[in-house]
Amino acid sequence: MQTTQHDSFEDIREAVRDLCQQFSGEYFRKIDEARGYPEEFVDALTKAGWLAALIPQDFGGSGLGLTEASVIMEEINRAGGNSGACHGQMYNMGTLLRHGSEEQKRNYLPKIANGDLRLQSMGVTEPTTGTDTTKIKTTAERRGDRYMINGQKVWISRVQHSDLMILLARTTSLADVKRKSEGMSIFIVDLREAIGHGLTVQPILNMVNHETNELFFDNLEIPAENLIGEEGQGFKYILDGLNAERTLIAAECIGDGYWFVDKVTEYAKERVVFGRPIGQNQGVQFPIARSFINVEAASLMRFEAARRFDAHQPCGAQANMAKLLAADASWEAANACLQFHGGFGFACEYDVERKFRETRLYQVAPISTNLILSCVAEHILGLPRSF
Ligand SMILES: Cc1cc2nc3c(=O)[nH]c(=O)nc-3n(C[C@H](O)[C@H](O)[C@H](O)COP(=O)(O)OP(=O)(O)OC[C@H]3O[C@@H](n4cnc5c(N)ncnc54)[C@H](O)[C@@H]3O)c2cc1C
Repeated sequence: MQTTQHDSFEDIREAVRDLCQQFSGEYFRKIDEARGYPEEFVDALTKAGWLAALIPQDFGGSGLGLTEASVIMEEINRAGGNSGACHGQMYNMGTLLRHGSEEQKRNYLPKIANGDLRLQSMGVTEPTTGTDTTKIKTTAERRGDRYMINGQKVWISRVQHSDLMILLARTTSLADVKRKSEGMSIFIVDLREAIGHGLTVQPILNMVNHETNELFFDNLEIPAENLIGEEGQGFKYILDGLNAERTLIAAECIGDGYWFVDKVTEYAKERVVFGRPIGQNQGVQFPIARSFINVEAASLMRFEAARRFDAHQPCGAQANMAKLLAADASWEAANACLQFHGGFGFACEYDVERKFRETRLYQVAPISTNLILSCVAEHILGLPRSF
C-alpha cells in the first residue's frame, strides 16, 4: 500500500479495508459488466455503519466529521471498488444536517442510519442550463400546504436505488430576485411516492456504470414540510452539500490514484521486456513517481478542505482546489498505469480499464475542471469575471 503519509485514521482505514476485502476487483468487474448496482457491498457498508458516519450519535450515527468520511471513501476506491454507488448519502447528509429542521432530522436521520432509508440522490443539473445553475428552470410553486414541482433534471444519480432525493428548484423567478443566487429552494423528495405520480425517470446509459437518469416533473406535489430551511435560500444551503461532495470526490480520486500507482508499480517490477523489468527504465519510473507525488499533495489539500468544513469555516476554495488536484492526479496515475500495462491495460480482467473510465468522470463531474479554474481565477485571484 503506497503512501508516505501517516495519519490518525489507521483504525478506520483498517476496518474499511477489511470490509472491502470481501468485495474483490472481480465483484466490481462483474457488476460493471452487468451494469448492475453493488447491493451487497452497499448493504455491508450500511450495516457496518460507515454510511452513517456523518449522522450525529443522537440520531443513530457515529457523529464523525467530513475528514473521517473522506478517509472511508478513499479506502473504498483504494481497494479497487467505486464509491460512486453510495457517496451521495455522505454529501447529501451535509445539507440535511446543517439546514434541516429538528423534525426533519428526527424523521429521516435514524432511518437513514439503520439502513431503512437511502438518501443517495441530489437533483441540481438541468439539460438546458448545465453548469449555469442559477438559471435552472424547474419550479416549485406553493399551493396551500403543498408545493407543485414542474421541470426537468438530467444526469441525476442513483434515483433507482434511493428512497429520498434533495431537489433544487426555483420558488421565485430569476426576473423577480435581486441576486441571481436568491429565489431557489431545496426540498426532500420521497422518491417512493413521487415516481409514477408526477415524476418520470428515464435512465441514461453512460461510459461508467454510474446509474444516472433524466427526471421529468409534471405537477409533482410534495408536502410543504419537505422544504429544507427558508424558502429562497436553497442555493446557499446546497453549497454546503457541494463543498462536502467535492471534498469526498477528491478523496475518491486519491484512493483511485493510490490504486493505479500500486497496480502499475507491481506490474513494472515483474514485467520483463528486453531482458529487464520495465520498471528499471526511467522512462517508466518517472511518470509513476510524478503521479504518486501529485496524489500525495492532493491528499493534503483534501485534509485542509475537510478540516475547514468540519470547523464550519469557509472551505469553497479548498474543496474546489482539492477536487481539481486529486482528479488531475488520479487521471495522471490512470494514464501511467494503462500505458505501462501495455496491451494488458485494455484487458478487462486487470480492472485497469474499468478504473480508468471511472476516474475519467471526475474531470467533468460533479464540477468540471474549467469551472474550478474559473472560480479560483475570479474569486480568489480577483481576475475580471468572464461570465
Ligand atoms: C455520471 C454522471 C453523474 C452525475 N450525477 C449528477 C447528480 O447526481 N446530480 C446532479 O445534479 N448532476 C449530476 N451530474 C451532472 C454534472 O454535475 C455535470 O455534468 C457537470 O457539472 C457539468 O455540467 P454539464 O454537463 O451541463 O456541462 P456544461 O455546463 O454544458 O459544460 C460543458 C463543458 O464546457 C465547459 N464550460 C462551460 N462553461 C465554461 C466557461 N464559462 N469557461 C470554460 N469552460 C466552460 C465545461 O468545463 C464543460 O467541460 C452527473 C454527471 C455525470 C456525467
